[in-house]
Amino acid sequence: MADDKLYEILGVSRNAGDNEIKKQYRKLAKEFHPDKNPEAGEKFKEISYAYEILSDPKKRQLYDRVGLKGLQEGGHHEGDDLFSSLFSGGGLFGGFGGFGGGGSRRRQRGEDTVYPLKVTLEDLYNGKTSKLQLSKNVVCSQCSGKGSKNGQPAEKCPACNGCGLKITYRAIGPGMVQQVQSACCDCRGSGEIIKEKDRCTTCKGKKVCNETKTLEVHVDKGMKDNQKIILRGEGDQQPDIETGDVVIVLQQKAHERFERNGNDLHMKHTVSLTEALCGFSFVVHHLDKRDLLIKHPAGQVIKPGDVKVVSGEGMPMYKNPFEKGQLYITFTIKFPDNHFAAEPVLKNLESILGPRPDFTVPDGEHVEEVDLLEYNPHERNSDSANRGEVYASDDEDHSHGRGMQCVPQ
Ligand SMILES: [Zn+2]
Ligand SMILES: [Zn+2]
Repeated sequence: MADDKLYEILGVSRNAGDNEIKKQYRKLAKEFHPDKNPEAGEKFKEISYAYEILSDPKKRQLYDRVGLKGLQEGGHHEGDDLFSSLFSGGGLFGGFGGFGGGGSRRRQRGEDTVYPLKVTLEDLYNGKTSKLQLSKNVVCSQCSGKGSKNGQPAEKCPACNGCGLKITYRAIGPGMVQQVQSACCDCRGSGEIIKEKDRCTTCKGKKVCNETKTLEVHVDKGMKDNQKIILRGEGDQQPDIETGDVVIVLQQKAHERFERNGNDLHMKHTVSLTEALCGFSFVVHHLDKRDLLIKHPAGQVIKPGDVKVVSGEGMPMYKNPFEKGQLYITFTIKFPDNHFAAEPVLKNLESILGPRPDFTVPDGEHVEEVDLLEYNPHERNSDSANRGEVYASDDEDHSHGRGMQCVPQ
């Protein structure tokens, strides 16, 4: 797997020291610099890449171990000549930010840290700055992330022989064993280990220290539930890799009055039957503490489920907060209880709402007067009880008990 190609590019031996590598790189870079030597662009890229790897002790160590192929995602690609594919078609810089490669464009980058942030609908309407206190790993300043006291290089981890991985076997069934690959716990996947006596006293060889930091999170007007706010480069630091981001995910708490749909707000309002018929006024306390006075004139009857709209009183639009969505109000009518029985009252109502239609009572033997009862959906009617019995008897052959469980509640 290992190869000497990068050493060959620089024209040095495998055990060349840092100074020799640097000297040789300077010499070749001058010679093949595209300014002087426009034909040698590819060659210059190769030299730069070789130097990038060999001048970094960690990358060099990895390369020595796994070779050029192995620098690519663990070296599992067999057979194809990655070397030529890397250096042809200008794929070097495009596909090669640091380690990645082969056109995958993957950079070695720390993981993002994701935090949920609960916000109210008021916060999303008015905007808000939240302070977020988080603890994160930062590269140890004492040892500059080396992990050792005097800059002694780390040694190959004996537990995993430097590969950072451990293979274990796990029985997953009779006669079946699963091969599980996991990070070596001695070196935590890094493949190298620092002797106890050499460890940096500040970070105890971990290369990073924990630090508490307060970040300001700006929730802008019109932001939505689940929207992400990205704080670039505020994630956990690790030596030699690009620091990931802190990603804040907004989580809107339910609001007691409004529901949001895009930029629109929806609310429900209940009026009495009298109000529905005779007109009404009411006040909506808005999210920015304004009171909206809403008047509905007499004569325009509101029916159950009617929806009315207040234009421009929805949510502000994100990045354009002077534009707002709509406020929709769905009406429920509260009908009076059973106290209209007196005939003079009914006659009065008929004079306003119109008379009851004429009804001729049919007669004959096939006419039967029945009672109209209150319906209670929680009471099981006789029909579903019967169905339960049928299920039970159908299932008798298998398991009586199971059949009983099928009876719907
Ligand atoms: Zn290890
Ligand atoms: Zn340290």
